[in-house]
Amino acid sequence: PNGGEMSLDVAALRAQFPILSKTVDGKPLVYLDNAATTQKPQAVIDALVDFYTGTNANVHRGAHHLSDEATRRYENARTSVAKFINAKAREEVIWTSGTTEAINIVANGLGQLLSEGDEVMVTELEHHANLVTWQQACRRSGATLNVVPIFDSGELDVDAFDRLLSENTKLVAFPHVSNALGTVNPIKLLTEKAKAVGAWVLVDGAQGIAHGGVDVQDIGCDFYAFSGHKLFGPTGIGCLWGKKEVLETWPVWQVGGEMIKDVTYHEATWGALPNRLEAGTPNIAGAIGMGAAVDWFSALDVNALHEHEQKLLAYATEQAEAFDGMRIIGTAPNKVGVLSFLLEGAHPADVGFILDRQGVAIRTGDNCAQPLMKRFGIPGTARASFSIYNTLEEVDSLFAALKKAKMMLA
Ligand code: PLP
Repeated sequence: PNGGEMSLDVAALRAQFPILSKTVDGKPLVYLDNAATTQKPQAVIDALVDFYTGTNANVHRGAHHLSDEATRRYENARTSVAKFINAKAREEVIWTSGTTEAINIVANGLGQLLSEGDEVMVTELEHHANLVTWQQACRRSGATLNVVPIFDSGELDVDAFDRLLSENTKLVAFPHVSNALGTVNPIKLLTEKAKAVGAWVLVDGAQGIAHGGVDVQDIGCDFYAFSGHKLFGPTGIGCLWGKKEVLETWPVWQVGGEMIKDVTYHEATWGALPNRLEAGTPNIAGAIGMGAAVDWFSALDVNALHEHEQKLLAYATEQAEAFDGMRIIGTAPNKVGVLSFLLEGAHPADVGFILDRQGVAIRTGDNCAQPLMKRFGIPGTARASFSIYNTLEEVDSLFAALKKAKMMLA
């Protein structure tokens, strides 16, 4: 490939990720499954080890040094995340187990406020996490679920979005970036439109959070949900960011320790945010690891990262277009990070298997978006997804492996 790596020192970046120097069956690992989960830099691994080695204790309750230190680190992590997404207040950041739990918290809260005649809007692009939650909340409450169509390119039909919006729309939910197609939605525009009819807005940020800066105040939405593990942090931790005035008035999610104010045998009142929505002992190490990931990521040049990722995608797309028998699924003009495709005459699972034999890790299957796959009339795709540490040489390895797959499967 020509053009070099420009302003980003990708080799130095890669050196911070121990797993990237692994070999698979003697072949260098080419990790292109970043939309499923990203790898972890040493800074995050160290934060987890440091916590368990030096400061492990429960938070918010101890009368001892370790508990104070654990609480300090845990709450500092919250502050890091709040700054990272430009939350107005740190209490607006609620720790969850991931995007899925964050969306479930919103659906649980709103589900109790919905009734027949109300409408909820999602898009054809949804991951199951942002579809099944709303589908079930609507079933329970009698509200109607409207699904905004996309064009064949994978771009959202904004005119249809306009047509489906009404005063009955209580909530609009959409992905920042589609995990299956890579489409980047015009989230600020969609939020503005939804707000004009008085609807709440939830952005599924699982894929958006690691691709450029997210400023929740600038977007203007009510909720933004994301996972630590797709942002170079640990699994089992994520965030629900929500506007304080909404989070502190909506019905609570789980009840138990940490989240209460006063309790008698027959009554209980709820504590203030963020504890109000964080019942029980939290994932302390996970939160600290996620804070470390955010601190690590924030120190990088966001524009250089974005430019590098766009270069990888453009280079891969160019090769895909020239590849005889390859069909790209998702060709929206505004895309990031994802190349979903099919090889003529080959099942994606077989393609994935042959690539794996050559050290190339991709995702195959329905991408947790079965209705979207049906929309395209396909059972699933092969999906290569890129992150900041991938190289143009790895894109070459992907296509060299695909040539082999084609020879073997055609
Ligand atoms: N939404 C989107 C767009 C995703 O890509 C994913 C994960 O792949 C999720 C939601 C769910 O995230 P998690 O499994 O981390 O809860």
